[in-house]
Amino acid sequence: MDNLKFIEKLKNSGLNEGQAFPLREELAIFIRAVTEENDEESFRLLLSEARKVTDTYYGKDIYLRGLIEFTNYCRNDCYYCGIRRSNKNADRYRLTEDEIMSCCDTGYILGYRTFVLQGGEDLYYTPEKIAEIVRKIKKKYPDCAVTLSIGEKNREDYLLWYEAGADRYLLRHETADNIHYQALHPEEMNLDNRKKCLFTLKEIGYQVGSGFMVGSPYQTFYNLADDLIFLNELKPHMIGIGPFVPHKDTPFKDMKAGSLRETLVMIAILRLLFPKALIPATTSLGTIAKNGREQGILAGANVVMPNLSPVNVRKKYMLYDNKICTGEEAAECKVCLEKRVEKTGCRIVDARGDSLVEYRRR
Ligand code: SAH
Repeated sequence: MDNLKFIEKLKNSGLNEGQAFPLREELAIFIRAVTEENDEESFRLLLSEARKVTDTYYGKDIYLRGLIEFTNYCRNDCYYCGIRRSNKNADRYRLTEDEIMSCCDTGYILGYRTFVLQGGEDLYYTPEKIAEIVRKIKKKYPDCAVTLSIGEKNREDYLLWYEAGADRYLLRHETADNIHYQALHPEEMNLDNRKKCLFTLKEIGYQVGSGFMVGSPYQTFYNLADDLIFLNELKPHMIGIGPFVPHKDTPFKDMKAGSLRETLVMIAILRLLFPKALIPATTSLGTIAKNGREQGILAGANVVMPNLSPVNVRKKYMLYDNKICTGEEAAECKVCLEKRVEKTGCRIVDARGDSLVEYRRR
């Protein structure tokens, strides 16, 4: 296969609607080739073409999402995740409504116009309680977007929160292959339900973010190809990917982490195939490599998600080992990121940063 020609093909598929999507086989072969072989020319070209596409659609603007990790209680038991219910070493916490509001207050002053409420699947927060928190944030900060990332729920709950004012929802599909999904999750969880949730969220009107881990245990290049094909069916507004990083108190503690190179390859491919999607340079990418997030931006990412959680709980939201940015105050995080982003030739902007992928306006 000619890798340079395939990069053209990826680009054409993203740029021209109606163009055929690349085949599973060729995607898998290409991903393997640029990740594993020393084809530096293709690797470089892939990344620079991806960055150019981002520039065309979104310019040099990098959007901020203030991440509020409001609970680390979780009823699920995903094998990769540090806050899984079986992890007896996790020091559990919940933020009160006032604490959440105070995170938003800090964030707003710093220029954040999106707040992401993320947590384990914690039934302590009833659907009505979540709706109340969303209403409160939207009332105080009507110019801000509220994103929820609290797992698989039913349509009724998703609708309640949308009507309360939630704008966006993040729910990674994690892997689009059934067998691989079952290798990462206990039997009581299943891929069909996760996919169903994603389509429901979209249909309700949310801007939806999906995604997967790169280099998760047992993942093959064909799995990654299937992830791309699934994303093409879903057509999400945002696509979040980051390397798998082992956590010491999980069944995957001895598994190897995903690589920087493979993650950059996948970010760039996503950008070429889905030019209008928002793509974050994630904290896990910053964790496995010193300038990981900067490199993610140079490969086509255009969102960063700094932590707005109170410093005293940050170390407790340990999804994986050595997670970065758990010590600094929110203001320090912003300054640090601004400097990092500047080095890439891009700039952080204080805007909501809505997706260019179509969604229902309220
Ligand atoms: N409970 C919510 C939020 C999950 S945490 C939900 O179900 O959507 C957000 C994301 O962190 C997960 O979707 C997963 O892809 C990622 N994550 C979890 N453990 C990880 C690990 N060990 N390494 C890298 N990413 C991880």
